[in-house]
Amino acid sequence: MNILIVYAHPEPQSINGALFRAAEAQLTADGHVVKTTDLYKMRFDPISDRLNFTSVHNPLYFKQQLEEIYATGANTFAELIRIEQEKVEWCDLMIWQFPLWWFSVPAILKGWVDRVFAMGRFYKTGYFYETGVFKGKKALLSITTGSPADAYLKDGLQGDLDGILKPIHRGILGFTGFSVLRPHVVYGPVRNSKEENAAEINNWKERLSNISEESPVNVGRY
Ligand SMILES: Cc1cc2nc3c(=O)[nH]c(=O)nc-3n(C[C@H](O)[C@H](O)[C@H](O)COP(=O)(O)OP(=O)(O)OC[C@H]3O[C@@H](n4cnc5c(N)ncnc54)[C@H](O)[C@@H]3O)c2cc1C
Repeated sequence: MNILIVYAHPEPQSINGALFRAAEAQLTADGHVVKTTDLYKMRFDPISDRLNFTSVHNPLYFKQQLEEIYATGANTFAELIRIEQEKVEWCDLMIWQFPLWWFSVPAILKGWVDRVFAMGRFYKTGYFYETGVFKGKKALLSITTGSPADAYLKDGLQGDLDGILKPIHRGILGFTGFSVLRPHVVYGPVRNSKEENAAEINNWKERLSNISEESPVNVGRY
């Protein structure tokens, strides 16, 4: 498969960094073609504005979605944005590696979505969810948390993780047509021993070695 890994963590020595590098190595060893987007290394600017485009259709009033539709036809996305769009269009499977921050993705990753997932190109009238532009592609969130696993049960302190991830699973990935694989979660790695975290990294590699066989989960209107 063609696989894109989007990685968002400011510290390469973090367990997120280790999971990212393990995934790239394992998938490459298994014969997949892997491309990466290392957002902090790129110092990706999450601000979504006129700089998404080489020129704007209406210089007097910036309306992002209208500019995106225009740029899709006129090929006027800024080079940085176009390169990221082409990676998403290229991949069969997209993996996001990130720490859960405020029940969501780090802002740098949200900004990547805000800027790259453009109307006209990644979604448009009549082309979303089951008829989404990326129908046939898969996506997988690989996450670490601060809180332990029991906090993310339905009656746990933080509540059901599926509910927390719904805005990403359905609102971004499902909306643009991706089928979503079960999220991969390392709960509370800061509390683990080095050996336990090494085992978590191995678990991730083992899961990835069979990733082509996995079926999507339901991220419907629950
Ligand atoms: C702004 C912000 C918001 C947050 N919001 C939430 C939230 O909503 N919910 C929540 O649950 N948590 C939240 N957190 C906590 C956050 O999710 C965790 O701190 C994070 O997921 C831990 O992952 P890390 O990669 O940063 O861990 P690190 O602390 O970098 O790593 C964990 C441990 O793994 C070890 N390690 C690294 N590499 C290896 C290796 N190769 N082998 C073995 N061990 C290794 C490290 O030495 C360290 O001991 C938030 C944190 C921040 C900063």
